[in-house]
Amino acid sequence: MTTRRDFLKKMTASTVVLPLISDINDTVIPLADGKQLRIAFCGLGSYARRCADAIKDCKNVKLVGAISGTPNKLEEWQTKYGVAKENCYSYETMDGIKNNPNIDAVYITTPNALHHPQTLRIAKAGKHIICEKPMAINAKEAEEMIAACKAANVKLLIGYRMHFEPKTLEIIRMRKEGELGKILFFQGLCGFRIGDPTQWRLNKDLAGGGSMMDIGIYAINGARYMIGEDPIWVTAQETKTDTVKFKAGVDETITFQLGFPNGAVASCLSTYAMNGLDKFYLNGEKGFAEMQPSTGYGPIKGRTHKGELTHPHVTHQTVQLDEMAAILFENKQPIVPVDGEEGLKDMKIIDAIFKSVAKNGEKVSIKY
Ligand code: NDP
Repeated sequence: MTTRRDFLKKMTASTVVLPLISDINDTVIPLADGKQLRIAFCGLGSYARRCADAIKDCKNVKLVGAISGTPNKLEEWQTKYGVAKENCYSYETMDGIKNNPNIDAVYITTPNALHHPQTLRIAKAGKHIICEKPMAINAKEAEEMIAACKAANVKLLIGYRMHFEPKTLEIIRMRKEGELGKILFFQGLCGFRIGDPTQWRLNKDLAGGGSMMDIGIYAINGARYMIGEDPIWVTAQETKTDTVKFKAGVDETITFQLGFPNGAVASCLSTYAMNGLDKFYLNGEKGFAEMQPSTGYGPIKGRTHKGELTHPHVTHQTVQLDEMAAILFENKQPIVPVDGEEGLKDMKIIDAIFKSVAKNGEKVSIKY
């Protein structure tokens, strides 16, 4: 039997021109036999809500469950998103998910330091895991998470939504096909001015750091997918203007440089002290690409030496989750990986950045 997936594969492989698509969400191919990934969220905060809203337009994903430390949020999710009461858990009862055949995967959207212990518990319960970035607060934790998921025979994916964003993917295509020539330089500027000093993002025990864990990671990850290599050294410098708001171990602003095997270098800025920094620039021997905004929720804007990128805006989380369903159930290989090993690389780079800062900007090599 020819599935819609086979049909689309044949269509794109031939010279037939596909009709113009107004919304890239329309390009998502349903899973075989109409199967859907039945997902539960762990930590019902602002990003979980954003994803839950985005799932309404998913073809391959259904929101079915919730784990929360706040009972009235569980009630709200039952009403607002139609989550069944028997699929609701607290952090105390969440191990019981093991005996729930109606949940396939848990999306972890709690503060960073909770990703590691919760991944270990959910893996033990035999469910696939999608974990928000940063996947952990250091490489050691990330390695333990990967090992736990392997041992439990469940898949671990990291919520790198930009890996499915059309303009980002077009620049990656251009770079892969040599349209930019040999890549020489990347610049990534990522930051915003953080408010409430009492929030978990400014608490080292819950955040694992400051701006680098939260927003600087986009520059690191972006440098890797834009250049198409993993850096082998880093140098980094920290500046702090407010030692009350940004306590020890919570970075306010870090500038860092990355060196890549083929000689390209990256110059990046991660900050909680400046507003509206969201810019990527990639330079090669034959051309350039720039994006601003480059990693916000969109619309992303981009242009290259060939002109403006006109790919349609997508709801990142809708496309990401539909694609992740195909990765989990059909072993689909994404253009840019989103597995635990991909998340681990970023953690190794963050560890090296913090090490370089501690050594007053000394060059630190990175091994994978
Ligand atoms: P929020 O503070 O809005 O939500 C976090 C939720 O985690 C809380 O609402 C709470 O939910 C739960 N939680 C459990 N323990 C704690 C605790 N000790 N302190 C605070 N909250 C706790 O954070 P975000 O939703 O903005 O971020 C969550 C994760 O998602 C982070 O890792 C962040 O980096 C990532 N993120 C990713 C984005 C992306 O674009 N990919 C964008 C934004 C965030 P409950 O009451 O249900 O227990």
